Amino acid sequence: MIQPSIVKNPPYPRNYASEFLLLDRGEGIYLFDEDGNRYRDFAAGIAVNALGYGREDLAKIAHDQMLKLIHVSNLYANKPALELAEKLVGSGDFAAVHFGNSGSEANEAALKYARIYGKRKKGPDCYHYLSFTGSFHGRTMGALAATSTAKYRESYEPLAPGFHFAEYNNVSRLEEVLDDKFCAVIVEPLQGEGGCTPMNRDFAEALNRICREKDILIIADEVQAGMARCGEIFSSSLSGLKPDIVTLSKPLAAGLPLSATLIPEKVNDYVHLGDHGGTFGGGPVTTAIASYMWDILTEKSFLEEIRRKGFFLEEQLMRTASEIGLKAHVTGAGLLRGLVLENEEEAGKIGDIITDARSRGLIILRAGSNVVRLAPPLVITEEEIAEGLGILKESMKEVLSA
Ligand code: PLP
Repeated sequence: MIQPSIVKNPPYPRNYASEFLLLDRGEGIYLFDEDGNRYRDFAAGIAVNALGYGREDLAKIAHDQMLKLIHVSNLYANKPALELAEKLVGSGDFAAVHFGNSGSEANEAALKYARIYGKRKKGPDCYHYLSFTGSFHGRTMGALAATSTAKYRESYEPLAPGFHFAEYNNVSRLEEVLDDKFCAVIVEPLQGEGGCTPMNRDFAEALNRICREKDILIIADEVQAGMARCGEIFSSSLSGLKPDIVTLSKPLAAGLPLSATLIPEKVNDYVHLGDHGGTFGGGPVTTAIASYMWDILTEKSFLEEIRRKGFFLEEQLMRTASEIGLKAHVTGAGLLRGLVLENEEEAGKIGDIITDARSRGLIILRAGSNVVRLAPPLVITEEEIAEGLGILKESMKEVLSA
């Protein structure tokens, strides 16, 4: 067993843990701590590091671009950002892209553009949003207002007005809830933090129909599940959801902070000079990396490979659960998978499973209250998946039998 290198009580606010694994470097899908211990990374910096670690190609792009031009602000244009904007806009029925730095910021921009559309097109009362149970859209005040989980919200109430919630994947009340005062629905096509829960087709169809009929925008939060993680460029494709606005972030710049909010012409038509902005978003270094990333992640063969490895991961997870007699099922898509522990007592031990796995050289995540979440770098091989799941099996056996 590994003795992980731990740092205690760093000068961070108390909203963070008092103990951290102190990481030093990475190579491929492996992370190494300060003492040189090696970990298989099935978390990827929370679904960020899609290409893994220690990549010469990414380092060279960043290095060259930093020497050439590091930052310009949104008062000026730069070539890497223009090139990326063209690629992103061309990925669907979009007219423009707003660049930011995080998933929360991408959603803030989407919420602002949707309000502009609602209020300027349909009148001052059209400013409400519908979001869903199990959702996570970020920690800034607007994105938080759209996030359903009480523990994230409670300390900050009152939050921004105009946010309402309905049950995810339940079509029964949508028609009656969504009326003229709604400018947008914000939804994850596959809920990440909520438990790796995919949207069902009926729900997607109902949202598409009702929102089109009532001229309500659909904002797809693709921050975690989008950009190839689920084997599709956008995870909306899995259920057939047809969003008007799409938000992207986590893997967009391979580990550097960047986000994108893609908007259609019909929204851009109502946007005025100075309505929104930001100092850092769309800087030349992050966008140069993202432009390169985009070409890799959208390659047909790369997406096919993720689907194949995703099925392998699903199959192996199910086998692992059944071999140790666990009451569980597998959810998610592609390389974003959840093992849902159906027994409450066993689910209460997920924290211990995560710690035990770490001391065996495996880094994993949790989602919701009862889900072990796996989101490895997309470049992982089947052999590495099998190795990681072998460790997870040992950890679950150990912790759950204790
Ligand atoms: N939206 C989704 C679906 C997410 O999973 C997250 C983060 O986990 C966010 C938004 C917020 O992103 P960030 O933490 O970069 O602000």
